[in-house]
Amino acid sequence: SNMTLNIPFDNSYARLPAGFYTRQDPAPVKAPSLIAWNAALAAELGITGTPDAATFAGNATPHGAAPLAQLYAGHQFGNYNPQLGDGRALLLGEVIDTTGTRRDIQLKGSGPTPYSRNGDGRAALGPVLREYVVSEAMHALGIPTTRALAATRTGQEVIRERPLPGAVLTRVASSHIRVGTFQVFAARQQYADLQTLFDYTVDRHYPGVTSPTDLLRAVATRQAQLIAAWLSVGFIHGVMNTDNCSLSGETIDYGPCAFMDTYNPETKFSSIDRMGRYSYAAQADIIVWNMAQLATALVPLMPDDDKAIAEFTEILHGMGDTIRAEWLTRFAAKIGISDPTPEDAPLIGELLVLMDGQQADFTNTFRALGDGTARDQFTDPTAFDAWEAQWKPRLDAQAQAPVALMQRTNPAIIPRNHRIEQMIAAAEAGDDSLFHRLNAAYANPYDAPEADADLRRPPLPDERVRATFCG
Ligand code: AMP
Ligand code: MG
Ligand code: MG
Repeated sequence: SNMTLNIPFDNSYARLPAGFYTRQDPAPVKAPSLIAWNAALAAELGITGTPDAATFAGNATPHGAAPLAQLYAGHQFGNYNPQLGDGRALLLGEVIDTTGTRRDIQLKGSGPTPYSRNGDGRAALGPVLREYVVSEAMHALGIPTTRALAATRTGQEVIRERPLPGAVLTRVASSHIRVGTFQVFAARQQYADLQTLFDYTVDRHYPGVTSPTDLLRAVATRQAQLIAAWLSVGFIHGVMNTDNCSLSGETIDYGPCAFMDTYNPETKFSSIDRMGRYSYAAQADIIVWNMAQLATALVPLMPDDDKAIAEFTEILHGMGDTIRAEWLTRFAAKIGISDPTPEDAPLIGELLVLMDGQQADFTNTFRALGDGTARDQFTDPTAFDAWEAQWKPRLDAQAQAPVALMQRTNPAIIPRNHRIEQMIAAAEAGDDSLFHRLNAAYANPYDAPEADADLRRPPLPDERVRATFCG
């Protein structure tokens, strides 16, 4: 069809006080061309008509949009940065989707803003395609996440360690309110703005919440659930700074993120995470630290500090138990247990110790449990046999059959780093076919058609990715 693109904008952030953002138009690019358009998501958002590269590269502002860069601050690797903000992203506006939920539409890589600091406001093609594929895969895995609506080439180079093709991602989120959005107003003692942000956040994400304590509890619960979900698929975010931590509980800001191949709880990939602050297992502790920063920012909204400290501390101290409970439910399901009790935790833990010691592949070992072939994943299968001798009686003791549960909780395919790197290298050379193939395959991660057998394979030694980069 040749229908004009129509995005039914209904913008609320633009009506917040002027200090919440800076109005900014995208900077036009040389030669926009569309790489991908997520038609199913567009339909969900009520978008009609034919997508055009000019709109999603930032060369044309769609009717009803009010582009703006949001202000926020945040702790980066533990150090407070008093002003970050959208340095290379612009909120075009919001739509109310077909389920009645307000969703942000944002361009990422659309040019400089007042918050760009020393950055160029641009994004390289590789990170744009990685975010597109991984965020859509996370959605298909059933994990709360921002989505990808479109990707365009800019026809311009960006200068990183070497010149790279540039691109713009169009991202959709329940909102882009971050822990760092609360932090900026608390640190500046702009308490009226802090209250306005509180009201806006509650209205948008937590209707019925009336107190800062209830907001903190609700966000902490969603984040605990999110981290358990990440752990259950071997996901490592890589940059869990407080500016990359969403109040909605969605995974946001895919940078040097990666999925683990062989199981090792200390796994990290991000080249900038030298100390492993954001390694696989550390994520469960770091989220509590991030929620403590949210709590600190909420203190000025409480009637008195003693009450705030007492109530907030209790919530933060309870997060460990919530994460353990969520972890237990998810990992018990991964070994076929539908009615877990804390007594099942050692059985799961022993399997993970075996996997760690024998460098078993995380995804394939769990998947093979349901297929009856897990023994083959171990170089010393007798150790697995001993574990299985404990596991089988536990499954026999429950009413529900375990196989279907395991098959819907253990993905057959996840976006492995070496496939992402191969996809990026091909796209940089002008070939987007692997990008499209991966998107199609990861849309059904719990199915394992024979045609996708190569996507189940762990990396060969020379394919292994050791470090991932931002960009
Ligand atoms: P991140 O940790 O990648 O989410 O980014 C931290 C901050 O750096 C955010 O304020 C980003 O908008 C900003 N930023 C990252 N890359 C660029 C860039 N190329 N140009 C301008 N700002 C950037
Ligand atoms: Mg960020
Ligand atoms: Mg970023």
